[in-house]
Amino acid sequence: MSGFNYEKDADNIVTITMDMDGPVNSMSPAFLPLLEETVAKLEAEEGLKGVVLTSAKSTFFAGGDLKTLVQASADNAEDFFNNVQAIKAVFRRMEKMPVPYVAAINGAALGGGLELTLACNHRIAWDDKSVQLGFPEVTLGLLPGGGGVVKGIYLMGLMGANEYLIEGKRVTPAKAQQAGLIHETVAERDELVPRAKAWIIENADNEAASIQPWDTRGYKIPGGNANHPAVAQMLPAASAMLFQKTRGLLPAPAKILDVAASALRVDFDTAMRIESRNFTALAQTAVAKNMITTFFFQMNQVNGGASRPKNIEPQLTKKVGVLGAGMMGQGIAYVSAMAGIEVVLKDISQEAADKGKAYTEKLLQKRIAKGRMTEEKAQAVLGLIKATANNEDLTGCDLIIEAVFENIKLKHQITQELEPYLAEGGVWGSNTSTLPITELAEASKNAENFVGIHFFSPVDKMPLVEIIMGEKTSDLALAKAYDYTKQIRKTPIVVNDSLGFFTSRTFGTYLDEGTRMLSEGLHPVQIDNMGKAIGMPVGPLAVFDEVSLELNRKADATWTEMGVRDKWGDGSVTRGVVGTMINDHGRGGRHHGGGFYEYSEDGTKTIWPGLLDLYYKPDVSVPVDDMKDRLLFRQVIEALKCLETSVLRTVADGNIGSIMGIGAPVWTGGLIQFVNTYGLERFIARCDELAVSYGERFKAPAIVAEKLAAGEQFA
Ligand code: NAD
Repeated sequence: MSGFNYEKDADNIVTITMDMDGPVNSMSPAFLPLLEETVAKLEAEEGLKGVVLTSAKSTFFAGGDLKTLVQASADNAEDFFNNVQAIKAVFRRMEKMPVPYVAAINGAALGGGLELTLACNHRIAWDDKSVQLGFPEVTLGLLPGGGGVVKGIYLMGLMGANEYLIEGKRVTPAKAQQAGLIHETVAERDELVPRAKAWIIENADNEAASIQPWDTRGYKIPGGNANHPAVAQMLPAASAMLFQKTRGLLPAPAKILDVAASALRVDFDTAMRIESRNFTALAQTAVAKNMITTFFFQMNQVNGGASRPKNIEPQLTKKVGVLGAGMMGQGIAYVSAMAGIEVVLKDISQEAADKGKAYTEKLLQKRIAKGRMTEEKAQAVLGLIKATANNEDLTGCDLIIEAVFENIKLKHQITQELEPYLAEGGVWGSNTSTLPITELAEASKNAENFVGIHFFSPVDKMPLVEIIMGEKTSDLALAKAYDYTKQIRKTPIVVNDSLGFFTSRTFGTYLDEGTRMLSEGLHPVQIDNMGKAIGMPVGPLAVFDEVSLELNRKADATWTEMGVRDKWGDGSVTRGVVGTMINDHGRGGRHHGGGFYEYSEDGTKTIWPGLLDLYYKPDVSVPVDDMKDRLLFRQVIEALKCLETSVLRTVADGNIGSIMGIGAPVWTGGLIQFVNTYGLERFIARCDELAVSYGERFKAPAIVAEKLAAGEQFA
């Protein structure tokens, strides 16, 4: 049988080895007929003792077919629902057969893959870190619709299943066994099928071996069903807590909880239907389409090297120089050493450099304390970092990343002084967050080997790196920066040069709009709440305090001096507020003794009372929807401008960069994807409304009307 190899042995055990067309086994349109045909053949077998299900690929089974899922709409909802039910019906036939099915899980089984194993009576997995198990559907705005929610609840109970279903946690086989998702593990991949067959033989006379827990009379769900007082109390509270966390912006977690509650209340088959119906509804939502498009298709595009120049050999970094051991430099040193790269961490004094290296030591100690690293490995990582104040130590670096103060004169001077230490053909990267790379490269003798490598703070946690092409940056330098970023296991987006590139510039509009609202007289707490209400992690004023008003003032002065300030639109309102805050009240931000907020020792913050005296006008009010849209649309418009002017080279970079770099709301699928599901025409109309009420900065960039006229979306 093409796709599913069928092999019966002398003990009357059939092994099905899944080997579907393409790189992975998945729930593509070919899956259902294949499974139906196979199960029918198994049902017709005489003397069958059991069935082993395994895979011929490196993964066991990759899950749902996202290409089909993303096409779900109200028009095909009935077919969608029927198809889900049809898959479940075949799973049910497997479960009703009088012989046991054993899943021999020899590779990752996520989502639909794990659901397929849950249709088996016994699950044995190869205990290897490549074998990830879990339900990542929620991270794509969906729910596990092939029985995953209901069966997850039957196996783990409401509390136990929570992190798997609602948080999309993926685990190793050993953890999955502890959680009750699988039954056994084996140490070697080729032990799996023999072990599965042995289990079938051991259980030949055990009738219960072919009966699922949900079909077992008297089976008790761990923690109890909805009648259990603790569960009855927990359900309404869980719903409220979830809402607080998602702010009502993500429909999937709420629907998962609904289905989970149903599984605790109604019979198994009814719960399975409810699950299918909710899955059908979720798949049609804009949020699911946004999340699938960006987190699956575009993420694969970005990480798969779509922006890396072709035909250039892999550019491995062996020795990296990091200039400046401050907040950023110390983080860059840490992530580089963790990737096994030799690091020279240089600052103006040995003491400053040592302090930067101590940061790595601190992070390593934390890993050891959590049992995530051995002392020996930590010493090896630390040993890769040489802290120094001596230029000579940079000799032979194949990559130097400069992370000194944001000052163009200093950066020029350092480039001239230290570039000669680069190894032949070495590349110079600047971690500037705003200064144009083309201008910085003017100090270089090799502007083609000069590239922007922009990290985000804190470097050890933030997954994104923005690579910036100066006018003269070569493809070779880009490949070097790209490959280094992958070496340190981060996601690279590649953008063209501009003041503030893509991320800083777009993020800046969020701060600017929040500051404008403040100066109009709106209450600062309301402003920050509106930021959170659209799904930003922090309100605009609170985050302005974090990045610091002081930094903004310095940057503004630098751009003005360079004569480029007006490229960034009218910054006069923000400049005015920042000037007043710093010059008149000494409030430069959180790390400068406080800014819009006051900070207490225990980490809590309250609005600085003087702020209300300065700006708050109780009689001023703006509709809530306008406040929210102002904060979101400013960012979307800036991202579109970046696309229009080719600062963004791809839509995928814009979406991934906005979410991973500046915390754009995940429900949007990124600042550009947002426009696709909002509707291009509707977007232009809403921009016009906002422009009339609040100013020309809300006019939709022409690229939206062009796409609309061409009948296209941003892809
Ligand atoms: P920082 O002030 O924490 O650190 C700068 C370090 O550079 C200091 O330790 C200083 O002693 C050192 N330095 C100054 N002159 C030097 C010289 N001649 N040789 C060697 N070292 C020298 O600053 P930071 O926040 O780490 O920022 C550094 C760069 O990274 C800036 O260009 C900034 O714009 C950029 N950046 C910052 C962030 C952020 O969130 N802080 C994010 C992305 C990029």
